[in-house]
Amino acid sequence: MKRQITGDEASPVDAPCNNPLVSSILPRSFAKTYPVAARADGARIWDIEGREYIDLSGSAAVSFVGFGIEDIAEAMAAQARHLPFVHSSQFTTEIAERFAAEVLEFAGPAFAGGAVFFTCGGSEAVETALKLARQFQVETGHAERYEIISRQQAYHGATLGALAVSGNTGRRAPYLPMVREFEHTRMPNCYRCDFDCTKCEDCGHKYAEELRAVVEHSAGRAAAFIGEPMSGATLGATIPPPNYWREIAAICREQGLLLIADEVMTGFGRTGRNFAIEHWNVAPDILVAGKGIGSGYAPLGAVIASKRVVGAIRNGSGTLIHGFTYNAHPVSMAAGSAVLDRIRTAELVKAADSEHGRIGAPFAKALQKLSAIPAVGDVRGLGLLWGVEFVQDRATKNPFPVEMKFSNRVATAAMKRGVLTYPMQGCVDGKSGDHILLAPPAVELDRLVEAVGLLGDAIREAADHAARS
Ligand code: PMP
Repeated sequence: MKRQITGDEASPVDAPCNNPLVSSILPRSFAKTYPVAARADGARIWDIEGREYIDLSGSAAVSFVGFGIEDIAEAMAAQARHLPFVHSSQFTTEIAERFAAEVLEFAGPAFAGGAVFFTCGGSEAVETALKLARQFQVETGHAERYEIISRQQAYHGATLGALAVSGNTGRRAPYLPMVREFEHTRMPNCYRCDFDCTKCEDCGHKYAEELRAVVEHSAGRAAAFIGEPMSGATLGATIPPPNYWREIAAICREQGLLLIADEVMTGFGRTGRNFAIEHWNVAPDILVAGKGIGSGYAPLGAVIASKRVVGAIRNGSGTLIHGFTYNAHPVSMAAGSAVLDRIRTAELVKAADSEHGRIGAPFAKALQKLSAIPAVGDVRGLGLLWGVEFVQDRATKNPFPVEMKFSNRVATAAMKRGVLTYPMQGCVDGKSGDHILLAPPAVELDRLVEAVGLLGDAIREAADHAARS
């Protein structure tokens, strides 16, 4: 089916819906006209009109190895021909067993003797992790522990359980009556620190101590704490203070909570480490992966559980009371295994490192130049996961008015220039505050740097427009 796309309206961001052909897809927004994607290669996507887009956002922090890798497509096709599917209640498969072992090894020594549960994406993986944490508590004699503590301004997925532990105001609002409410702690944000500190060591401790207070308030009902090692979409790649995760892990251990690191966005090399939590030398009990694990080639997520967590179930009831029809889908397993092989052979984790990596370091340097634009308040990130926050006034850090939808304007102006970004609002207080998330694949450095230049032009255009309105 062909959709009409014209000029500026090719943007998926807030363009009016002028499509004369009625689509049968229930879209994310009826207010937008989406270009029809035709093919992709490396860091680029082309639409059916032949327009080229440089993918600075890796779609939504998904694409890491880049598109067009024959070996991955071939591995998937071969698996589909050979054995497309079996149900995990009836069979395991060689490809799932092999990939699980590879993932455990990739997760490092803290997960030796552990096990992996494969899903079709991040939300399913988060749901699984929450239920696994609860079952761990039941199996170890703590049936009274069921509360999951999470953080404000976090995003853990679209399903109701994952939404319950998320703190993204906008994405939760309409569903609140359906959401099970647990306690949230605050998320560290060095650019807008709630403690007005000048030294991050001080506030890291204060933010972590909020967890202790919440656990004490829960009077023995807390089962687990879940957090993104670096904030993802909602706050835009903010980096926690250096001692934050060590202190959080210590409180979890001391208070009998499992620590769940949601690495759906940050895992599988994105931040220049296999998993982002490694930046702070912390080993969680459960790692949750998505996005980059399949790098867009297949719908895939994973819950990586430590030996202690798996042992509690193996030596307890022996049954995981949970499952999806498409657990460990063989074609997704083949894709994941081939993606991981590519990450290894092309040394993409090292390449993504923003200090020394061959892609990450020059990309970070190019991004820092955006700081010269007055509307840019903060440029932050690690590896190939970055946030650019916009302000109306740099001195006061005042955001643009919410109605202006400044980040959408930037994304629209960038898209006009053939650059894809991921615009978000709410980084100040859940409603106001504009930023874009950048999470490109670790390929085609020259294109990425060129796209950052075009993004600069887009920001200037949006700021000029804002100044005039
Ligand atoms: N956790 C995090 C940190 C995410 O960023 C996302 C998606 N943006 C999810 C979970 C949910 O993943 P999915 O959209 O694949 O269900």
